[in-house]
Amino acid sequence: MDLDLSERELGFQQEVREWLAANSPGKLASMDSLDGFEAHRDWERKLHDARLSTVSWPEEFGGREASLVEWVIFEEEYYRAGAPGRVSQNGIFLLAPIIFEHGTSEQQQRFLPSMSSGEVIWAQAWSEPEAGSDLASLRSTATRVDGGWRLNGQKTWSSRATYAHWGFGLFRSGPSAERHRGLTYFLFPLDADGVTVRPIAQLDGEPGFAEIFFEDVFVPDGDVLGAPGDGWRVAMSTAGNERGLSLRSPGRFCAAADRLLDLWRSHPDPALRDRVVDAWIGAEAYRLYTWGTVTRLAAGGDMGADGSVNKLFWSQLDVGLHEAALDLLGSDGEIASDWSDGYLFSLGGPIYAGTNEIQRNIVAERLLGLPR
Ligand SMILES: Cc1cc2nc3c(=O)[nH]c(=O)nc-3n(C[C@H](O)[C@H](O)[C@H](O)COP(=O)(O)OP(=O)(O)OC[C@H]3O[C@@H](n4cnc5c(N)ncnc54)[C@H](O)[C@@H]3O)c2cc1C
Repeated sequence: MDLDLSERELGFQQEVREWLAANSPGKLASMDSLDGFEAHRDWERKLHDARLSTVSWPEEFGGREASLVEWVIFEEEYYRAGAPGRVSQNGIFLLAPIIFEHGTSEQQQRFLPSMSSGEVIWAQAWSEPEAGSDLASLRSTATRVDGGWRLNGQKTWSSRATYAHWGFGLFRSGPSAERHRGLTYFLFPLDADGVTVRPIAQLDGEPGFAEIFFEDVFVPDGDVLGAPGDGWRVAMSTAGNERGLSLRSPGRFCAAADRLLDLWRSHPDPALRDRVVDAWIGAEAYRLYTWGTVTRLAAGGDMGADGSVNKLFWSQLDVGLHEAALDLLGSDGEIASDWSDGYLFSLGGPIYAGTNEIQRNIVAERLLGLPR
């Protein structure tokens, strides 16, 4: 692993740093409120105009063909600058890699530019009331009709679906006996006839999630991603992205760890020093581990089950880091603040992107070779 950046990478870092210093609006209203959602979309448009919203994508779709190393640099600079959260993240990090891999060129042309610009925000619609960890037990159905499919059923916990424009999810298009084979991956507008979106308030009171109900929703053949019946394989490439590198880059935790050090300096409690230092070391360790992963991937390796190690590490780091901050703040920690918001959000980390128990099963079976 070579930690020295090349001339080109240093130039890119400088450009991103300067642009963010001049343009970042800092924290915006919560993207789970309507005003905040729109403010975040405006920000995405501005990033896009500077070709910084999806740096690693090909130019024709709004990117600048940045390398993996440059993408990590971008993320470090982004969080260091305290720039707004990415309202488009489920589209650009979870769906786009699948559209690049499995989409037709017509689908790529139709969906990727508007995703890059923040014009269309996407919601992941995988979970169902009776299908979370055991996703293949999902029951929402797709029935073949002339020119397309009719969707029926219910999805839940769909982040940002309250205000998002399009959704992506799996539906059972074949017999339920063939759990993994009879699934198809669909893209659908959330204002289509027969779709009802019902917001769910999160711990902070904002409707960060929604349930989505489908009643005979027509989806044309052109909005099926990958082959009918092949949805499980298509979906699993997203799962790897989600818990691997893309969803939680180290820049996020390094920036939070730096803020934690600042907090300790203004609230220097010797009894909490070790926990603050542990959190900082954890963030730095994740950063260095990620550079190792990037080096391996750039040399042609793949993420594989290592993504599960990543996911366990960052989700636990995030909770510990925020707990240390709240303990430093003492009774002030109970007043709504960035730290208390961050703490509430960190509690979801061990659950979304595949729960940590499921990740431990994967690590045990695939990396450690333990029996099922
Ligand atoms: C902040 C947040 C955002 C989310 N956003 C989305 C979204 O945008 N789209 C979407 O589709 N979903 C989303 N989800 C839902 C998330 O994917 C599910 O909550 C998750 O997959 C777990 O499913 P479940 O809630 O049904 O729990 P269950 O699967 O019922 O699990 C309950 C408990 O049992 C444990 N468990 C289950 N199976 C096993 C096993 N085999 N071995 C050991 N332990 C097991 C689990 O770890 C968990 O502790 C989000 C969740 C959160 C918290």
